[in-house]
Amino acid sequence: MSETSAVKPQKKIPMRQCLGCREMKPKRELIRVVRSPEGAVSIDLRGKASGRGAYVCGGSAACLKRAVKSRALSRALGVPVPDEITARLEAEVLKAGDGGDE
Ligand SMILES: [Zn+2]
Repeated sequence: MSETSAVKPQKKIPMRQCLGCREMKPKRELIRVVRSPEGAVSIDLRGKASGRGAYVCGGSAACLKRAVKSRALSRALGVPVPDEITARLEAEVLKAGDGGDE
């Protein structure tokens, strides 16, 4: 009997840190918030907008709240996060939570 499956190197997945729980997670499990070069904060669902990005776990309202409350999010972006964006983020985070691939 041979055991060859034990130490397969995993494919490289881009990892990013959630600003709520500070854990490194695969980028696709996170929601990206981006500050555009003009200074506008928006939610970047495709992960392709240019600008400075910050991440929180998709599906975890707790992470988002923590990231906002501790100001980690605004610090990472370098600008305050408008309430409107926080509210939209909350909706996106919750959306990311359902229908996940568990
Ligand atoms: Zn998190």
